[in-house]
Amino acid sequence: MLTKPRLLTPGPTPLPEEVRLAMAQDMVHHRKPPFKALLADVQEGLRYLFQTKNPVMSLTASGTGAMTAAIYSLFHPGETVLCIEAGKFGERWAEIGQAAGLETQILKVEWGKAVAVSDIEAALDANPDIRGVLVQASETSTGVLHPIKDIAALTSRRDVLAVVDGISAVGISPCPMDAWNIDCLLTGSQKGLMLPPGLAFVALSDRALARAKDVDCRNFYFNLIGEYNKTLEHQTLFTPAINLLVGLAESLRLFRSFGLENVYRKQWALTCMTREAVAAMRLDHLAETDYTWGLTSVMLPPGIDAGELLKIAAADYGVIMAGGQGHLKKNIVRVGHMGHVDYADVTAGIFALRRAFERLGGYIGSANPLEVGLAAYEQALEDGPPAL
Ligand SMILES: *Cc1c(COP(=O)(O)O)cnc(C)c1O
Repeated sequence: MLTKPRLLTPGPTPLPEEVRLAMAQDMVHHRKPPFKALLADVQEGLRYLFQTKNPVMSLTASGTGAMTAAIYSLFHPGETVLCIEAGKFGERWAEIGQAAGLETQILKVEWGKAVAVSDIEAALDANPDIRGVLVQASETSTGVLHPIKDIAALTSRRDVLAVVDGISAVGISPCPMDAWNIDCLLTGSQKGLMLPPGLAFVALSDRALARAKDVDCRNFYFNLIGEYNKTLEHQTLFTPAINLLVGLAESLRLFRSFGLENVYRKQWALTCMTREAVAAMRLDHLAETDYTWGLTSVMLPPGIDAGELLKIAAADYGVIMAGGQGHLKKNIVRVGHMGHVDYADVTAGIFALRRAFERLGGYIGSANPLEVGLAAYEQALEDGPPAL
């Protein structure tokens, strides 16, 4: 074995040893006192992670389950929501909304760009029926960070809920739910949280909670009021993925001991490292500004196929990265650097990207992307991240 596999994908992400060992324990019963104590501990950790005083519900589902739960629990059928569609996951909001019988108004944004708050404001002004804005904090298909703080400031002044898919933002870049007035924040386990897929988390603001109590949830499994009541008793509505929750307790312990501010600093430094190295290879970024802190979307020149590049990187360098989604499938490589990933993993990623790019005939130039990247990493660690 010349290499070991390194998962540099925007989910799933590698697991810390503490989490893997915790999950290897034998089964415990989910209705007995020791597990309730574990859920009480998990609840504290989740509120810290979400930066909220309100309960955070745990669902046994992938992240899309939490999106589904939010839509069914917060809106009556026939109500209008505004979906911000700047990539694959933005499209998913509209698809779930339509399946649930909502009126979905779509605000299309060019892939690779963040939504302009003024465009949302204009849409809300033009249509007073809109009851919610559904948006991603980080659009993982393009690597863009939307201006959630400003969007939620806008919706908080109106009778409009800010419903935020934070699946590739929570635990990666700041998204403080209460301070920013987010009405519904959700995430999944397999991105920033250093866990396998299978759990999703969602919290509601006071006014979202009041709204949910008034909605007749038409979904038996994804029912946030039902889960809310159980969460208050440190229980879940149905049998949860017990060993994932045991792993979660460990991952949240790591978050609390390292500190969220330090996690954000690391994420920012890895982002600067990857971006500068990519620029040194004379490759373009899909997201020129407003880029997310957990992945970097690299544009490939015409004639270089992302699928071929990814195959070389995996087979010869052990580095597993992702291609694009939708119409960008062959044109971009997405380098994930979220969760339990550090500068050494990203160094391997940059090296694999460079060599695979060269092998396919891509031009590199004379700069040393590894040195450039590592210097950017050290500088960014020292300077710290910008305020969002
Ligand atoms: C990964 C991801 C999803 C989808 O989550 P699943 O766990 O695959 O259901 C949705 N939104 C965003 C922003 C994501 O990054």
